[in-house]
Parts: sequence; structure tokens; C-alpha cells
Amino acid sequence: MALCRICKEKKIITKADVYLKHYRLPLCKKHFKEWFLKRLKGTIEKFDMFKESVAVGVSGGMDSMTLWQALTELGYKVYGIHINLGIPGASEKAYEKVSKFAEEKGLDLHVVNLKDEVGATLPEIVKLRKRPACAVCGQIKRALLNKYAKRFNVEAVATGHHLDDEAATLLANILTWNLPLLKRKHPVLPSRDGFVKKVKPLVRFTKADIKAWVDLEGIDYVKGECPLSTGASLKKWTALLEEIEKAFPQTKFKFLFQYWEIIQPIFREHLEIPEDEFKIVPCKYCGEPAVIYNEDEEPICTICKLRELVNQSLEVSSN
Ligand code: SF4
Ligand code: ZN
Repeated sequence: MALCRICKEKKIITKADVYLKHYRLPLCKKHFKEWFLKRLKGTIEKFDMFKESVAVGVSGGMDSMTLWQALTELGYKVYGIHINLGIPGASEKAYEKVSKFAEEKGLDLHVVNLKDEVGATLPEIVKLRKRPACAVCGQIKRALLNKYAKRFNVEAVATGHHLDDEAATLLANILTWNLPLLKRKHPVLPSRDGFVKKVKPLVRFTKADIKAWVDLEGIDYVKGECPLSTGASLKKWTALLEEIEKAFPQTKFKFLFQYWEIIQPIFREHLEIPEDEFKIVPCKYCGEPAVIYNEDEEPICTICKLRELVNQSLEVSSN
């Protein structure tokens, strides 16, 4: 193993604990941590994500656990929100890891049980909705994170999306010319009509950087695939991009950041895309944002709609 580059510059001989291949940078544990935290703070400031308080959606995976800990170490007021989806064999393990980690590191944890919110678990809801599990799950997580973030009165909700995720979705959106998403996709989505600002502070870190953090910190995170996962296509795009990166190092970073710096501003100014014809109004039951497509539609938010669906199915099965 090489010597830590920063120690070496200070004429100290220290064995590197990690080699960041993407930057050809060998670092000891102390300097890796300094590098990581400085880069994270720099990203938050560059994109003006938040100043003091933020909620983090913590699934138990390595990205969200890293983000939760690193933001807390930077001194922000961080509310970790874990949504227990009730997936047999997976959700119990995720909850155990998240709560143990919070206790060990003194992190602020709030648990939301999907069953308490709508009366059913994710697998039960997926059966009723007859849609791909990840699409249903994504909607639920967005709605619940938004609801609880507002209770904590934070400036933004942060998720653990990293460079590899974002570059892969950008590649998919370009090769399929998904213009509305190309125009919208950004590390910061401003708040609007009852939706809290959404931010992605890990967007300048590769998956390998995050793996180095969890390894050096000894974080016990959820490994292996979610049993309901339907996200196979993103994996294919990620693998394709990895092949390109192997042949042309640094492509991923330039592809994503030059898109945001050069191309997206042009798109935003000149690309006329008829926006989807929808309005966001308060839910008639709970006041959370509800999307309606015409004036006759009843304004009911994602969570209240699911609760209605679950109640209807219970009524049918009891008759
Ligand atoms: Fe939800 Fe899909 Fe993630 Fe499983 S893989 S937790 S269903 S989004
Ligand atoms: Zn509602």
C-alpha cells in the first residue's frame, strides 16, 4: 500500500488506509475523513442546499448511513427518518442496523411505520396497486419524508444519491431523450406547493468513495438486494457507464457536472416542453400536497389515497 499523500507532503511517513482510484489519491484514515467532509461541505455550499437543518431518509444502506453520519459530524442539525416498509425478512434487519448505528454514533433517529400510516405493508400495497414495487415505494417514501420533514421544520430533505447513480440516470435520460427529466434533474429541487426542498449532497462522491467511508468507519449497513427490487434497468445503465469509465477515466464526473454547468442552463432557457397538465393543491383530508390533473378531481394525497385503497380492500374481504 502506498503512503498517505497529505502526510507525505508534511514529511510524515504514514501508510495509506485507502486508495481513491478515481482521483489517484492514497490517504490515511484521518486525511480521508478530512477530504470527505470538506468535499461534502463544499458541495452543500456550492449548490446552496441548506444552512443549518436537514432531514435524511435513512434506509440502512451504505449511502444513507454515510450521509447521516457525515452531515452530523459537520455540525448540521440532522433528523434521520427511517421508514419501516414492513417487507418480511428485510425491514426488520434494516431497522436493527439503523437503530444500532444511531445509538453507537449518537445520531437523531425517527422511525415511521408504513403500516401505522396506511394500514398495510409495502408488499400488501404493491399487490393492491398492481404497479412495479419500486415505483409504488418511491412515491410512498417521497410523501412520508416530505410530511415528517415539515414537522421538524427543516430547510431540506436529503437523499443518498451519489455520482454513479446520477450519471447513470443522466445517460439513460439522454439516450431515451426524456426531455422533461433532463430539464428538471438537478442536485437541488426547490420547494414548491407544500413540497420541501430536495437535495443530493453526495452527488460529487463515487460509490467507491462511500464504500471507503463505511469500511473505515466500520459501519454495519444493509447488504444485498431488497426482495421487491424492480430496478434492473438502472443497473444496466450503471454497468454500461462503468465500461466507458474504465476505458476513459473521469468521464462520469465530466459527463454529469458539465451537463449541469453547460448544457442544462441552455435547455432550461430554450427548450419549450409542454409541462404535464397538473396542479398541486392541499389534500382534503390531511393538507399534504396532492396532485390533480383536472378541476373535478378530488384533491387526495398519495398516503391518504393508499389508506382509502387499503380500507376498501378490507371492507371487500370482510363482506
Ligand atoms: Fe423500495 Fe424498490 Fe428500494 Fe425495495 S428496491 S426499498 S421496493 S425502492
Ligand atoms: Zn392526505
